[in-house]
Order: sequence, then structure tokens, then C-alpha cells
Amino acid sequence: MKRALGLALAAAALAASASAGGLWDALFDGDSDGSSGGFSAAVAALTGEAASVKPVRKADDRYWVTVRIDGKSARTRAASLGLSIESVEGSLVGGVADLSTLKRLKDAGIEVQSRRALSGFRPEDFPPADGIYHNYGEIVSELQSISSAGSGFVSAFSIGTSVQGRAIPGLRLGYPSRDGRAKPAAAFLGAHHAREHLSTEVPLLLARWIAEHAREARVKRLLETRDIYILPVINPDGVEYDIATGNYRWQRKNLKDNGDGSVGVDLNRNYDFRFGGEGASDYPGSDTYHGPSAFSEPETRAVRSFVEALPNLKLMVSYHTFSELVMYPWGGADEPISDGRALAAFKAMAERAAQWTGYRAMQSSELYVATGDTCDWAWAAKGIFCLTFELTPKSQGQGGFYPGSGAVGPTVQKNIEPALYLIDLADDPYRAANATAMAAPKEAGI
Ligand SMILES: [Zn+2]
Repeated sequence: MKRALGLALAAAALAASASAGGLWDALFDGDSDGSSGGFSAAVAALTGEAASVKPVRKADDRYWVTVRIDGKSARTRAASLGLSIESVEGSLVGGVADLSTLKRLKDAGIEVQSRRALSGFRPEDFPPADGIYHNYGEIVSELQSISSAGSGFVSAFSIGTSVQGRAIPGLRLGYPSRDGRAKPAAAFLGAHHAREHLSTEVPLLLARWIAEHAREARVKRLLETRDIYILPVINPDGVEYDIATGNYRWQRKNLKDNGDGSVGVDLNRNYDFRFGGEGASDYPGSDTYHGPSAFSEPETRAVRSFVEALPNLKLMVSYHTFSELVMYPWGGADEPISDGRALAAFKAMAERAAQWTGYRAMQSSELYVATGDTCDWAWAAKGIFCLTFELTPKSQGQGGFYPGSGAVGPTVQKNIEPALYLIDLADDPYRAANATAMAAPKEAGI
């Protein structure tokens, strides 16, 4: 979508303010009156233009491939070789691989059934056909708009900046606590992976939905007793790069210059749980490159700082696309988490979310092992109950990463109720396993 000048400037101002720490301060100075003065001031204090989207230097030699791979360990090996696995249907695995990854797969005896150059996919416009999706400037503008609409209980902030200096924006929703103590908190993260645009729309429009339904008893109670954090775009550079030409570029990673002609680190392999292990690639050109070290990227460091500043954060959702799954740790270990009581709670909440959405609940590593993801780290390092949602659609044939504007409304709608349920659980996530304590599923009307 052609970005309005004002939005670009707002984005630039947000970036500038974030780098100065202004919005970060606004989040943690205890000022929760919702006036979001830091944000407004930042927008008013315009200093320049938004960061440009620098070209990726290496020619794009990636393909959508289908391979026949039987069994989880073989899939894990393929992922370790650099195949970005996106769908598993029986022994037929679909994903993205560059030429060097294809060669490694072949050398490992994995036969590629079909391949199609990403550049050969029909050009699709984010605008105008998919104009309903929010680009970065529009995300920032929407967050500002929600913040203005939710005066008294919404404030905007930034958790840090990307490789190219874009602010990683967020919202907090919740009334100040009556006793001054920190409330239990839940956080909803989108777009670790750039091409997964629906993963931005769900948390962003969840924030909008909550703000618009703030007077309803159930939502009001959540706003009074919980803090809700929305971080709709962890990888803003990648998102902008993906749509910068008007043709989707299937960008997954951030825009870090790897120094070897390749660009980008897979942010969802860059967290510190068994970093660099199975299912993450050592090869910088691969879509699943884990980076030189855990938390080597400013985007993952920003998430870490955000989490570490919130000891009351008990529950997290990391949205991705696609495959229609609700997954719990471990992703990076081929075994269940050791805390049986927590495992029961994880399973219960994933299955509950699956009932509402029609997605499938499972342990992340059930399809293949992949190390370094957000939720493994959140659970291992911080004891945060963290779920990964792989949103709509179910398959590449149904649109894959680019399911069109018609996917936004239904996907957001079916994910409202699971989000409200998880926000409610933030006071004691173990409660999820106590089925009798949970109310019957109810549709969220939007
Ligand atoms: Zn993803």
C-alpha cells in the first residue's frame, strides 16, 4: 500500500524516539494513565524519514520445494541442512530452500519432488489486492489510533530497534492496578518471520478488538486485573522488504548483513535454548540460519529486554503462519518438558485453543525438531507459558503465506476467544489443567 506521508513520518518519529529510550521509558515509568504522552510527543517531534529498505545483495535463488521425507528425524535433518519446513502432509514436506540448500539435501539423499522458483510465483500486490494488510507505517498508525481511542487504559511504546533502525512497536492495555502491584501479564507477538503477515494482523486487531469492547464486563475485568501487551511486528525490516516492490519476496529473516553476500538471520532460531542445535542452519544463506550467536540480533535482544523487564509476564503467544497448529514446548528437544504439571497445563491450553480455532494442538517438535525459538527460551529461561500459533491457511495450496485479504477477518475472529482465555489464565497458567474451572467455549462476537 502506498504509504501516506504522515504515517511514514510517524514511523520515523517512533524509531527516533525509541532509539532515545523515550517510549521505553513511557512503558516502565509507572505512568499508566493511558495518555501515552511519550508516543504523541514522539510523533509530534518529527526528525526525518523512515529508514529505507536496503536491497538484499545476493540474487534470490530460492525455491518452493516439495520433498518426500519419512519420519521426524529425517525432517529434522532436512531442517538442519537449511530447509525451511512450512507444511507436512504425510511424507510430503513443503518448504523453502535456496540452491545451496538443495544441493545439501541432494547430497544427503533427500530427493526433491518438485521445485518452483519463488520469483516465478504470480506477482501479488500487498496493495491494492491485499491492501487490508498493514505495512509498517500503518501498523504504527493503527497502534497510535488504538492508543488514542483507549484513553485511560492503552499506552504505546517501543521495545527497541531493528537492524535498520525501525522501532519495534507495542501496546500495553490495562487499567492501573488498584493496589499499585504489578498485575499478571500476557504478551502477543507477531511477525518474527516477515512473510507471515497474518501473524501481525491477529495481535494488532486483537488490540483493536479489546479497546473497542473495553466496556463489556468480561473485557473490563481483564483490563482491570491483567496487563496485555501487543507486539505485532518483531521483524519490521523484513516485513517492509517483503512488500517493498509490490511483489511479495518471501522474506523470512531479518535484514542483517551476514558479511558473505547473504542477508538475514532467522529470528525464531536466534533465541537461547540449545542454540545452534538441531533444525537450525549453520549456513548464512539459508532461510533457517540461526545467526552467529544466541541473541546476536537487535530484534531478539529487544524481546529479551522486554521480557526481562516484566517479571509478572506469565503467558506469551508467538504468532506465525501457516499450517493451523497450536504448539507448546519443546520445539528444540525431542522430549516433553520435565514438569508434568506444567505439561498438563500446556496441553490443556493448546487443546482449548485448538477447539476454538479448528487448529491442531501438538508439541512443537512433533513434526521436526527446531532449536532457538521464542517459546523454548521463554519457558526454559523465564518459566513463561508460551504457545506458538501457526495460523491460517492449512497448506501452500490454500495460499500459504499469502492467503489474500479474505483470510484476515475470519482468522482474527477465531483467534479472539483463545487470546481472551489465555489472558485470563495469566494469573495462574497451571489453572488450565483444571478443566472444571474453565467456562464453556463461547464465540467472541466481532
Ligand atoms: Zn514463522
